[in-house]
Amino acid sequence: MRPRHRSRHRRRAGHAPLRQHRHPGAGVNIVAYTARKIPFVGTPETNPETKAFFDGAASGKLMIRRCTSCRKAHWYPRALCPFCFGECEWEQASGKGKVYTYSVMERANPPYAIGYVTLAEGPSVLTNFVEMDFKDLKIGQDMKVTFIKTEGDGPTLPFFTPA
Ligand SMILES: [Zn+2]
Repeated sequence: MRPRHRSRHRRRAGHAPLRQHRHPGAGVNIVAYTARKIPFVGTPETNPETKAFFDGAASGKLMIRRCTSCRKAHWYPRALCPFCFGECEWEQASGKGKVYTYSVMERANPPYAIGYVTLAEGPSVLTNFVEMDFKDLKIGQDMKVTFIKTEGDGPTLPFFTPA
């Protein structure tokens, strides 16, 4: 038997737990959150079904579709209602909603947060959360739309920030 090994093992097991993640995000400047450029993949011009959405976003309006038959609003914009295949029309959403769920990408540089906002009109929208400290994000939190120009030649798009 080699009692020295056993005692070394006991000391190692008795070490204090690692503390490096006790305050994730501590000390990160909030400017980093707002400085992130949001990438956009695709071209807004190619799809006539979504043109009104992009045109609306360019002028600071969140445009959604509502069915003229069952009167339900939906997201993302489609020509026909996903609930009843009825005809739809555009309407300007209030821009108000609540956080349905979220995920913070702490390891990204700079960190960012994505999630779903359930609009006052009903549909849930996948979005980036912007202009806030992500440590304050809460499910059910009141949000409002804000419009930000995406990276490079990307269009201006709606995102969400605390109301
Ligand atoms: Zn419908």
